Amino acid sequence: MSIYKIEIPTPYAVGDVNAFIVKGDALSIFDVGPKTMEAYDALKWGIRAAGFDMQDIEQVVLTHHHPDHAGWVDAFPYAEILGHAYNDKWLRHDEDFLRYHEQFYSERLLEHGVPQEYIAKSVHVRRELELVGERPLTQILEDGDEVPGHPGLKAIETLGHAQSHFIFWDEKTHHVIGGDLLLEKITPNPLIEPPLDRTVGRTKSLLQYNASLEILRQLPVKMMHTGHGAELEDIPLLIVKRLERQHQQSMKVFELLGDDQLTVVQVTKRLYPAIFQHQLGLTLSKTLGHLDYLEANEYITSTKTEAGIYLFQRK
Ligand SMILES: [Zn+2]
Repeated sequence: MSIYKIEIPTPYAVGDVNAFIVKGDALSIFDVGPKTMEAYDALKWGIRAAGFDMQDIEQVVLTHHHPDHAGWVDAFPYAEILGHAYNDKWLRHDEDFLRYHEQFYSERLLEHGVPQEYIAKSVHVRRELELVGERPLTQILEDGDEVPGHPGLKAIETLGHAQSHFIFWDEKTHHVIGGDLLLEKITPNPLIEPPLDRTVGRTKSLLQYNASLEILRQLPVKMMHTGHGAELEDIPLLIVKRLERQHQQSMKVFELLGDDQLTVVQVTKRLYPAIFQHQLGLTLSKTLGHLDYLEANEYITSTKTEAGIYLFQRK
């Protein structure tokens, strides 16, 4: 399996995103950057530098549905498009799915203490779609599936950062295309996203993410090709460091709680006083992740008031 990396600019704080051309029996590209003209140029020249043309690409494989990864599926009108079932809903810009998102976020904001009058202004599902492509999947991948045209390359479901996240594990070379599961310089955010299965309630993204790291830790990885930044080699060591750091940050939230009974919004204000108003969704997701972690590890408990608002307190 030969892998060529393409660095693609994004308009997001994360900086460049990586795409990978993989030559097996089929010629595939893993992730395609956001749908901006700058990203299109980088993609085109990157494919050329690897010795191919845009139209040579036979398959686009997506690690997850976020716009920095799933934009330019539209640039490959004849290629197969493969990814998680959740991804398909985004690429279809499915109206019912968008309404489900908006309702889901409205309910979460309300139950975590955002005043009713701020809720409508705080839900921006459709803005996220601007740089996402519009070609639906031609094939849905499930956990454990082999990628067509790449014998031994398996999709492994690793949810948490996104509800559509896969890593791709090559059983022969022990290389892994890792999406945003583990990155060189940053810790991916455990974003709260509505689950595909509408009957299961809110996902506990940080717990899901930690479980996904555990899946990765079990693999004897030689090299990980990441969605942002450099390749990674010593995966177990990095995972231990990241989990330790996350535990310390969660314990900081535990300290901030003091003897009070607080909503997620109140904890978020204490944790991120400077940025909480400008980055409400992100900071609430992070805080809620810490609270879920503390509750799962029996440091704290939560109760739901008659008004349907969750309050968190030390045990
Ligand atoms: Zn990303």
